[in-house]
Amino acid sequence: FPRKDLVSIEHQEITDIEFLKEAMNKALVSAMITVGQKCLSKPVEDMVPEIQKMLSEHLCGCWKQCPFCGAICTNTIPNHDGDHSVPFHRPNAVNGIQYHKSQEFSLELCTSSVASDRSFILNNDDTTKFPFKNYRQAGVKYATWSITPDTSTQPYWKWFVSHFRSNLEKKYQLKFIGKGEIPDAWAKITKEDVLDDLEKQ
Ligand SMILES: [Zn+2]
Ligand SMILES: [Zn+2]
Repeated sequence: FPRKDLVSIEHQEITDIEFLKEAMNKALVSAMITVGQKCLSKPVEDMVPEIQKMLSEHLCGCWKQCPFCGAICTNTIPNHDGDHSVPFHRPNAVNGIQYHKSQEFSLELCTSSVASDRSFILNNDDTTKFPFKNYRQAGVKYATWSITPDTSTQPYWKWFVSHFRSNLEKKYQLKFIGKGEIPDAWAKITKEDVLDDLEKQ
């Protein structure tokens, strides 16, 4: 569902992931009832092409995932020409990625990693390190992705990580300490700041 259909839950204070699930479910049910009613009011012959169009728009895109964070390419054409890309990469912490050989969460994003001088471990093989800057040379799945170096992090992710820090710590058994310490400024970001920023996109 596009964001506009779930706009009704944006202003609820979400404090844990279970509650988020519940709120999403409620909003989805009512959105589905609305769609159902819309369908019933029209003859089947009219609905079929409309449903086909809706499904192809939603499902026929490219489904390739970023090799680092798993975000899905937003290109709407399957087997498209050119590189895969996504406007919003997910912070490493959301996927439970830690700094190598530590219990500390990594707060980096793919976009900040490729702008850095750090390296990543290739194929979980402890010995093969690869510089992020040259990630495209690391293999086929990396070569076809265009990740624009950018050292900033969107307010949305800063808010998400600091808001759900205890859920993330529990889920991955890692800690936001040391290099993975959440900056104080992140905790000060309010949901209103996040929504304002998203409006601007
Ligand atoms: Zn990514
Ligand atoms: Zn793609």
